[in-house]
Amino acid sequence: MVECPLCNNIVKNLHKKSHLIPEWMYEKCYYNSHKLLSANLKSGYIREIQKGFYDQIICPGCESESQIYDRYASLILYQKKSSVYKKIKRKTNKKNMNGIILNYSFWENIDFLKFQKFVFACVLRMHLSERKRKKSLFSEKHFKIMRKIYKSDTIIDDEIYPIIVKKSPDDDEYLNRVVLPYQRKIRGHNVIEFYGAGYTFWVFVSNHKKPDFVELLCLKKKGDLYLSINYFEDTGTFKALLNSNFKKDFKKYRDKKGR
Ligand SMILES: [Zn+2]
Repeated sequence: MVECPLCNNIVKNLHKKSHLIPEWMYEKCYYNSHKLLSANLKSGYIREIQKGFYDQIICPGCESESQIYDRYASLILYQKKSSVYKKIKRKTNKKNMNGIILNYSFWENIDFLKFQKFVFACVLRMHLSERKRKKSLFSEKHFKIMRKIYKSDTIIDDEIYPIIVKKSPDDDEYLNRVVLPYQRKIRGHNVIEFYGAGYTFWVFVSNHKKPDFVELLCLKKKGDLYLSINYFEDTGTFKALLNSNFKKDFKKYRDKKGR
């Protein structure tokens, strides 16, 4: 018997293959050989992955619960023909923020709890996977608070761990990329970032007052969200990739494989 670190229930076995991020976020990333190339920015390694990103981290009950939220996110972000997708009001516009012209899409009618739980589930699963390897995305204290919010249907809080979503334009050449949740600093704040299906997600995990732009753009409990529209090349993640040895290594890998 084993304790599930997410719901604390004692179960016979943890689910064998929990998605770290849902499959729809990287279904366009497979190469012709139906494999993914996985690169780790920190250690600089590249390897092939046959079937996606899984780990044995949570119980079967928590796994099926998280699939509800993963599915909701796929409907509103990705499946343009679904009735749930059409329920979201979307308006694209420009905004002048201190002299910087920001292209953005303003969305209304998002199911706040479901969408927040989708984002938190990705972050919590990755944290638990990292924890197995004696690493972490954030402290145990934040893990416990985020887990409590995730597991509750009565705590409705859009301030403690604000969520920012950015959208890549439809012609972005990096749409077929995925970045698993990892920790980075944005203006001195700890932020967990991940990327997939053309969306960048940021979750601010810190005790300090968040920057003004976060308060303005983040997902609100009434279901509003400002998504700034940026090419992946203009993001900090891409710049970090350029600064790493990754680009050179990737080329080496491709040449070796004759791709
Ligand atoms: Zn569980």
